[in-house]
Amino acid sequence: MARIVQKFGGTSVGSVERIKAVAQKVKATVDDGHEVAVVVSAMSGATNQLVTWAKECGAFHDAREYDTVVATGEQVTIGLLAIALQDIGVDARSWLGWQIPVHTDDAHGAARIESIDTTKITNRMAKGQVAVVAGFQGIGPDHRITTLGRGGSDTSAVALAAALNADRCDIFTDVDGVYTCDPRVVPKAQKLNHITFEEMLEMASGGAKVLQTRSVAMAMRHKVKLQVLSSFEDLPGTMVVEEEPDMEKNSVSGIAFSLDEAKVTLVAIEDSPGIAATVFGALADAHINVDMIVQTAASEPGKTDITFSVPETDLERTRKVLDDVRKIITCADMITSSDICKISVVGVAMRSQPGVAKTMFETLADKGINIEVISTSEIKISVLIASDYKELAVRSLHSAFGLDAN
Ligand code: ASP
Ligand code: MG
Repeated sequence: MARIVQKFGGTSVGSVERIKAVAQKVKATVDDGHEVAVVVSAMSGATNQLVTWAKECGAFHDAREYDTVVATGEQVTIGLLAIALQDIGVDARSWLGWQIPVHTDDAHGAARIESIDTTKITNRMAKGQVAVVAGFQGIGPDHRITTLGRGGSDTSAVALAAALNADRCDIFTDVDGVYTCDPRVVPKAQKLNHITFEEMLEMASGGAKVLQTRSVAMAMRHKVKLQVLSSFEDLPGTMVVEEEPDMEKNSVSGIAFSLDEAKVTLVAIEDSPGIAATVFGALADAHINVDMIVQTAASEPGKTDITFSVPETDLERTRKVLDDVRKIITCADMITSSDICKISVVGVAMRSQPGVAKTMFETLADKGINIEVISTSEIKISVLIASDYKELAVRSLHSAFGLDAN
């Protein structure tokens, strides 16, 4: 007997019919003799609708009330799934975040889980009852409902698996695993049997949408056995593992891309100690996540150009913050652009195999694609390019690194 956490995303619970299919999957696991906790998302599209309504009622809405509204999507699906399970003879009970409780900090809209008290649900699970848990939500120190940020039910599932000391956390989704690249953009992409936590983390933060980045970081920290698999087929998925069993593998395991990027250049900004600290300090205070940064010498002495990227959704706020910064620091101009795309090649084998950067840059050069910004980690190289070249770039890189399916 194992203790298993199963998570079903929005498309998997997108209709009553699908919820019934999920109930059958859960029943099969229960019939195999396992203890099961199920974490679900809202029906696909439901959270977007709730977000839209909140915005329509007030553009600068109170984050506490935003959470009150957007957390409701999951309340519907846990209730429906519990009913569907009971209907086929499975003992099941629904749980909202506060009922467990899942304690979070007070960062409404992007809260972090601090602890999960599993006493009540483990008692029930030990008696054979399936716990159907609302993903994406918790309860803050102010006793108000919090949500974990979009895509947060992956994090709920991994956190619950860690707190329950589960043997496995299965993330059921609308794709059958993690691919070398998004198959909608690269038809020759292949499903990976394994990917390491580190690679998955870089892929997710590089824009691969399969798992919320925070959920991967949490799984890595707590050594949660994670599997990504299809809720529509009975096939093994991709195991996210600590170490790759195949040592001879390609230098690159996968390619991720993200269009949610904007580039900002501060032209001819003063070049003296403390300038970068002031600029990036102001952005950090505004909770704006800066990703890639390059600094180059400007033509004038004593001046420099700083270029960096931020999420496209934060561009307006970034401009505002920097307008204020430019009142205290001399800077000739600020140029911004959101027609850009970040492409990342990822692989742990890069550590021992040189030449990845060379292949990447040569491949892009051959296609006449200009690289605007570069950043690297031990296991990843990212570039910013014009978004028009996204498909050409990812497809060419996918071939160049030998990832194409035969
Ligand atoms: N329903 C939430 C969202 O759409 C959480 C999730 O699906 O993971 O972002
Ligand atoms: Mg998701």
